[in-house]
Amino acid sequence: MEVLTTKRFEFSSAHRYWNPEWSAEHNNQVFGKCTNPHGHGHNYVLEVTVAGEVDAVTGMVINVVDLKQIVGRVLLDFDHKHLNEDTPYFRERQPTTENIVQVLWTLILPGLPEGVRLHRLRLYETASIFADFYGGATATFSRSYQFSAAHRLDSPQLSPQQNIDLYGKCNNPKGHGHDYRFEVTVEGPVDPATGMVINLVDLDAIVQPLLDEVDHTHLDRQQPFFRERPSTAENVVAFLWQRLYASLGERLRWIKLWETPNNIFEFGVREP
Ligand SMILES: [Zn+2]
Ligand SMILES: [Zn+2]
Repeated sequence: MEVLTTKRFEFSSAHRYWNPEWSAEHNNQVFGKCTNPHGHGHNYVLEVTVAGEVDAVTGMVINVVDLKQIVGRVLLDFDHKHLNEDTPYFRERQPTTENIVQVLWTLILPGLPEGVRLHRLRLYETASIFADFYGGATATFSRSYQFSAAHRLDSPQLSPQQNIDLYGKCNNPKGHGHDYRFEVTVEGPVDPATGMVINLVDLDAIVQPLLDEVDHTHLDRQQPFFRERPSTAENVVAFLWQRLYASLGERLRWIKLWETPNNIFEFGVREP
């Protein structure tokens, strides 16, 4: 039986994006404030997920104390450092989340004991931005967004009494509402010039019109999508997927929706 084990790490680093082959104007266009010559920084969070058979004697895939040491040694080069200036890894590539996670993969992998497979690295640059890498030809970039909307659960296929019985207080005729939060995961090769799967600015430009359309609205009363189907979180995920797929196509891999912090719904294509 193969079990996945994840350990979380934190490190704080400075970085700067700049492609020397481009004009200053083009650098500013693509990288914005990240071109500041003095750099800026983040509290990075790294999740290391390894997989392996559970050892019959120790009952473990890997001792997390060992995993802490293996990854900790690698992160010595990253923590409280300027990634461009203090490390050799970002001379030829941008220290983007996607590139950092790939570099960490190559550094962590050789240190793992035999029989332990590196399954996934997830690197958060901020609480709402992260990149995943599974060791293949692509990486993923994820970003979360939120909107506030009213809705009412009411199925056109059911009678008024059946709706009350099924949905309870969510069937309140005047509606209620949520601060919806959702994560969009985009997959693709990392562009060698930008170090990105997708530019955050481009992703924001794709998502923003959708947010403008649903934020501070009543989903059932204002969205035709919810005339024929109840505005359950499952259908909200389907709505978001349909809209974002129209712009992102096959690059769209996963959507995770929090209707409330306690109720989470996901739809997408599994790991690459
Ligand atoms: Zn940054
Ligand atoms: Zn609700």
